[in-house]
Amino acid sequence: MQNKEDSIQKLRKKLDSCNKCQLSNQVKNKVFGEGNYNSPLILVGEAPGKNEDEQGKPFVGSAGKLLEKLLHNNRLSRKQVFITNIVKCRPPKNRKPNQIEVEACSCMLEKLIKIIEPKIIAPMGNSALEYFLKKTDLKNKVIGEIHGKPIIYEASFGKIILFPLYHPAAAIYNRKLLPIIEEDFKKMIKKL
Ligand code: SF4
Repeated sequence: MQNKEDSIQKLRKKLDSCNKCQLSNQVKNKVFGEGNYNSPLILVGEAPGKNEDEQGKPFVGSAGKLLEKLLHNNRLSRKQVFITNIVKCRPPKNRKPNQIEVEACSCMLEKLIKIIEPKIIAPMGNSALEYFLKKTDLKNKVIGEIHGKPIIYEASFGKIILFPLYHPAAAIYNRKLLPIIEEDFKKMIKKL
């Protein structure tokens, strides 16, 4: 769809020149996100890490490899979904982005969501979950309590599903989480 492509390109240009928060000072690349703009699924992490900052792509390190495997196990590739983060610049030493940074960057994410109009948004990990839960009555819930449970979510264009997932990195550090994250992915993809 040409209009969608135009809107995405405009948003990318905006990102290139963005210096709304201090995170832009020391990045090699801002990471817009990548994948299919017509996908019914957006996967959202916290922020780019070292590899992502170097390559300008989301989820390219070991967590990215696991994410690709989880998609592949469900007959999907990363090209078929859209992958992004709450903030588009890497925080120093991979610290959690602070509230000011999240707020500064949120309009970029919201515009992206509005253009793509997904059926499901999957926040991966507590940081991403926290951002989306702010607009719900489940504010204080953490990923360990509500992973794999679909939540009706009011996006700017209508009601969609919020599907919380563990961050793939969590399953790398704690292998006991792997079968749980695999099961959650299966459940989520059935809903597409
Ligand atoms: S993190 Fe977001 S708001 Fe901050 S400079 Fe980067 S793109 Fe702009």
